[in-house]
Amino acid sequence: MKDKIWLSSPHMGTSEQKYVQEAFETNWIAPLGPHVNGFEQDLQKYTGVAHAAVLSSGTAALHLALIEVGVGRGDYVLCQSFTFCGSSNPISYIGAHAVFVDSETETWNLDPKIVEAVLTVAQNPALAAKHPQIPVLPQMPKAVIAVDLYGVPAQLETLKEICARFNVALIEDAAEALGASHRGVACGAWGDLGVLSFNGNKIITTSGGGALISNRREYIDRARFLATQARDEAPHYQHSAIGYNYRMSNVCAAIGRGQMEVLDERVQARRANFNRYVDYFTKWNSKGFAIQFQPQLEGDFANRWLSCIWLNPAENKGISRETIREGLAADNIEARPLWKPMHMQPVHEGAQLVSNEPVGTLPICEKLFANGLCLPSGSNLTDVDFKRIFEVLDGIFKSA
Ligand SMILES: *Cc1c(COP(=O)(O)O)cnc(C)c1O
Repeated sequence: MKDKIWLSSPHMGTSEQKYVQEAFETNWIAPLGPHVNGFEQDLQKYTGVAHAAVLSSGTAALHLALIEVGVGRGDYVLCQSFTFCGSSNPISYIGAHAVFVDSETETWNLDPKIVEAVLTVAQNPALAAKHPQIPVLPQMPKAVIAVDLYGVPAQLETLKEICARFNVALIEDAAEALGASHRGVACGAWGDLGVLSFNGNKIITTSGGGALISNRREYIDRARFLATQARDEAPHYQHSAIGYNYRMSNVCAAIGRGQMEVLDERVQARRANFNRYVDYFTKWNSKGFAIQFQPQLEGDFANRWLSCIWLNPAENKGISRETIREGLAADNIEARPLWKPMHMQPVHEGAQLVSNEPVGTLPICEKLFANGLCLPSGSNLTDVDFKRIFEVLDGIFKSA
């Protein structure tokens, strides 16, 4: 069996072990310490966001973000359906209602026009007749969760403007988008709160971890308090709120500090992977195939965490994403279908959906899922790996 080529595997730099060693030597083996503070400062500097708290995961960060903006049991939250469950699970932890929103074709992310229509009708049900496909929610949603999927920025400036106009909190799930930017401003910086992840498969990793970032100090101070079991000031353990054990350990933060030193290189490598795939498939497209790439807005900077393609078998001589996925798998190369939208998950059966269609479907993200594929995208892929990947793909396209 040939060595496995992974979809996206950890890629350490040269300083991580040194910083971990430092944590051991100083006995800061705790969910606080100098590397925690240092990693938070690194993230603030990199994103240009004033405050950051590093946490045990991106999902934990999103959970705290919802709590910070006041989402409680029974409240409504608009959430991009086309995402990983980490974006939406925290809505369920709280007992709030997720309203799943379709994507748009320009970035594959949250459709601002649908968000605007839902908020318009929720605020003024008298306007419902003008938007027959939009459900009238019984109350204004408390928050909107927008995702920069696969590191491609959503229409963040527009979403920010809409949320501000309706006085609804915007939470930017930039878990996949560290190093990307929209209109020259870092992903993660556009929401009232931004979420980052350092899970093992992300663009940089701390083995597991996440961060919550915001320009509002109160949000991040409160998040730190809640993330450490909500301990009031007292010599004994005293609690006036229910907290969580969500802080990042100083050992993991040590890895994070090392990874920050190579982040820009990792972004460059991922973007180079994407360009390589574009060049490769463009060659086939000039021979009668029609493979599409995840688009980005003009002038935006995607980190291309994962390189994603979309192909309709009817326009590609019967080749489907499964033909490609299985072909690669047979050579021990990992590829994966795009995220299965949250509204199609059994656990969310019966959830409220909104799209541009009157029926209960989200046609754009369903179509993306049906025919989309994430290709091997690690920043540690070698020329030899690419040679193997392209040989398998050549075999598939030549025999079509
Ligand atoms: C990875 C990810 C998360 C959650 O991050 P974890 O650190 O794995 O909890 C949330 N949203 C998206 C879109 C992600 O890809």
